[in-house]
Amino acid sequence: IPVDPFDLVIFGGTGDLARRKILPALFRRFCAGQMPDDSRIIGAARSEMSESEYRDLVRDALAEFGKKHAEDKHAVEAFLKHLHYVAVDAMGDGGWKEMKALLRDEEGLVRAFYFSVGPSLFGPLAEQLRENGLADRETRIVVEKPFGHDLESARSLNEELAQHFYEDQIYRIDHYLGKETVQNLMAVRFGNMLFEPLWNAQYVDHIQITVAETVGVGGRGSYYDHSGAMRDMVQNHLMQLLCLIAMEPPAQFEADAVRDEKLKVIRALDPVDPDQIVRGQYTSDGSMPSYREDAENPTSKTESFIALKCYISNWRWANTPFYLRTGKRLSARASEIAVVFKETPHSIFGIDSGRHRNVLSIRLQPDEGMTLGVTIKEPGPGGMRLVDVPLDMSFADALGPDAEEVTDAYERLIMDVIRGNQTLFMRGDEVEAAWAWTDPLIEGWERRGDSPKPYDAGSGGPDDAAFLINRDGRRWRGIK
Ligand code: NAD
Repeated sequence: IPVDPFDLVIFGGTGDLARRKILPALFRRFCAGQMPDDSRIIGAARSEMSESEYRDLVRDALAEFGKKHAEDKHAVEAFLKHLHYVAVDAMGDGGWKEMKALLRDEEGLVRAFYFSVGPSLFGPLAEQLRENGLADRETRIVVEKPFGHDLESARSLNEELAQHFYEDQIYRIDHYLGKETVQNLMAVRFGNMLFEPLWNAQYVDHIQITVAETVGVGGRGSYYDHSGAMRDMVQNHLMQLLCLIAMEPPAQFEADAVRDEKLKVIRALDPVDPDQIVRGQYTSDGSMPSYREDAENPTSKTESFIALKCYISNWRWANTPFYLRTGKRLSARASEIAVVFKETPHSIFGIDSGRHRNVLSIRLQPDEGMTLGVTIKEPGPGGMRLVDVPLDMSFADALGPDAEEVTDAYERLIMDVIRGNQTLFMRGDEVEAAWAWTDPLIEGWERRGDSPKPYDAGSGGPDDAAFLINRDGRRWRGIK
């Protein structure tokens, strides 16, 4: 379904994120027929370049990151006709008049500005838009992560934006929320009778969220070294996944109804004891550099891995552990949310049949999909032996070769901006509440001077992370 025609300005339109994600996503939506003919994409960045130079840059970006559609040269050239470029300086006067002259004031035309630049430019850009008369009550702005470094900086970013824009104009991106499986999680929870009655402390033993990466921090090591896994991954992505898993059913699938429920989850999170947190840092495996080499900081105490156990203090989840884990340079690229149900209260099949648990596994990568583990009789004449089998809901199987096309989070999220749907974007108070929970944990280990535990590159993280869950009589699923 086509969206309304739009003028979308991408500040940072020559940057890495724009070339790798935003422009290829827009191109694929164009190929899918979702972009109206009179829509325009306006790249804006500091470098002086002509429109045709910018189109060349985008042509190259599509060839590199545009997947199979980019092989269609006609489609690429047709898309490039929608592109324009203006050199602007967020911190100065240059380019704003040209930008104003380019933008159209037409009834029904959506105007959006994507801030694909560092957060220090969010405030100055918002101010420039207002001062130069480029934004009105309908204009939308999109901001990228990181949204702050701690509660104080997130608050001041929110305040800076709020001086010029209302909350319903601000779209804070967390691309995990745009993933097909993450949305499917809500469909499974709230579109079936089967799960929701069991979705609580009485029937769920525990929940695991793992986001494992094989890459290191090389290339952005010096930035990462001021951040670490807690700020870079847990405060935003893992927290968002936790919210969607744990929240109460909203009355409607509508932005504030959903975000109110997510906020309640974050506010109900207990503080975490230091002995329930394991931080790690990868060492060199001989062929690849260690974290400290990547970060160019030989004494760095920043974590490239974190595992923790937390609790949500409310009726639904009292005493149900949530185990969260994320890290770089691990043995596999695998992200999964696993809802591990309790064992049956009594086994009628005798102790030989073993102990079985249903597990609903929601995979975010590499192959997005869901699997429900159920226990059945092992086929054959061998008596009543039980075996666990997966009920597979893999998108690749269900959707065939088009599956790749539905999985890109940026496509979905950018189109939601044009539609004016904020459901899959973070609200300012959510982000602040998440920082309010993470800040004391970070301050705690900084105050104590804790060093992260070294772990081998290509492993499952430090041994202590396994111990964190094993001592509760449970095990991590997936990567070890
Ligand atoms: P980048 O350094 O590759 O690009 C920055 C862009 O900002 C360039 O186009 C540059 O011209 C423009 N710019 C810088 N100063 C400017 C100014 N004063 N006025 C106008 N334009 C200016 O950065 P990136 O990797 O594209 O990241 C952009 C933002 O997105 C950052 O906040 C980053 O943390 C975030 N982000 C990036 C990624 C990614 O994969 N690259 C992923 C998630 C979030």
